[in-house]
Amino acid sequence: MTFEEFGLNEKILDAISYMGYEKASEIQELAIPVIMEGNDLLACAQTGTGKTAAFMLPILNHLSAEDNHDLSTLIIVPTRELAIQINQQIQGFSYFLNINSVTVYGGRDGSDWEAESKALTTGTNIIVATPGKLISHLNLGYVKFDKLKHLVLDEADRMLDIGFYDDILRILSYVPADRQTLMFSATMPQKIRDLAAKILKNPVELSTAISKPAEGVLQAAYVVYENQKIPIISGLISNKPDLDSILVFSSTKKKVFDIVKSLKKAGNATEGISSDLEQKEREEVLMRFRSRRTRILVATDVLSRGIDIKDINLIINFDVPSSAEDYVHRVGRTARADKTGIAISLINEHDMDKFDRIEKLIGDEILKIPVPEELGEGPVYKVRAPRKSNRNYGKKRYSSGRKPGTGQASSN
Ligand code: AMP
Repeated sequence: MTFEEFGLNEKILDAISYMGYEKASEIQELAIPVIMEGNDLLACAQTGTGKTAAFMLPILNHLSAEDNHDLSTLIIVPTRELAIQINQQIQGFSYFLNINSVTVYGGRDGSDWEAESKALTTGTNIIVATPGKLISHLNLGYVKFDKLKHLVLDEADRMLDIGFYDDILRILSYVPADRQTLMFSATMPQKIRDLAAKILKNPVELSTAISKPAEGVLQAAYVVYENQKIPIISGLISNKPDLDSILVFSSTKKKVFDIVKSLKKAGNATEGISSDLEQKEREEVLMRFRSRRTRILVATDVLSRGIDIKDINLIINFDVPSSAEDYVHRVGRTARADKTGIAISLINEHDMDKFDRIEKLIGDEILKIPVPEELGEGPVYKVRAPRKSNRNYGKKRYSSGRKPGTGQASSN
């Protein structure tokens, strides 16, 4: 479906055409007409599916028809990175419109406070905010949301995981009851349904293909001992100049530091990012990674949702994530919007059951590549409840142990 078919304003169509969007993605096709009709929406959609445009285009279409300077739209998101990224997309979509948007998020040095408070009191149409910082402004009494017409909660499940439930309800107490509310969540646990029941009015419910990595991702795994992980990564990426944007996920901040150290030692331009870094440092690290000055970025899950870095060619799960949903989000960092990418997971002897849960969630068995001979044998892949494979790789159980004649199979 093309964007012309939605009946969007010409200026918006021009902007998205400049941005290179040709066809609407699934979530856009489903959500845009529903939002344009004024409905509340509860949508289950992952990152990388184009959901920002799905909610922003109809909102901008409505605002462009009104042509006023009210603060009419509030978008609440879990992280500052996501706030920045959504704001960048809004600036693209509204390039030919007389509409302003600002971000409100914590972690800066305080110089932004005045600009934010000015934007919250005059002249801005759209605010993209993280809950904590927005509440600090609300506490001072000058924020007026009385003209607000559109409220979006993005990555709602992530916000509840972080513990923003009370903050969200608090913010809602400042917002007019007569509004359109759109809630996006990658997963739909009961607590999300409960929140939806509290804040949405007769919502239309939509779901795009749930919990499946994008089609273009080649997924594979090595079953390894911890000390084999760095040599595996080194082997995978050495002499592969095409792999110039590699994202490594680790479960803990402490490990990020260790992995960066080891990969640097092996001669790779590597940096780490975790919530320990100041906001400014995080932005600088991301900028160097985006511009390909840093080949490898090592991150905790803070980055795994919502962050839009184009053309990451390889994702490495240094650890198997604890939540199967996080696997999908990590892997969703590559192969965005019709591209292809590779996602490799390193499974140690303690993580096999976790990995099995991931395979169950995505309904697929992920290819286990034998550990290269020179690294010695890896552990045997065993899960507590073996199940029927729905894809045939020729074996039910995989051993990553040495096999004559097999080497590193992935992107060689
Ligand atoms: P999102 O899920 O909103 O974070 O979007 C993921 C990426 O896909 C962003 O880089 C968008 O600019 C891009 N994108 C979204 N919709 C489309 C589309 N219809 N055609 C091409 N790219 C898109």
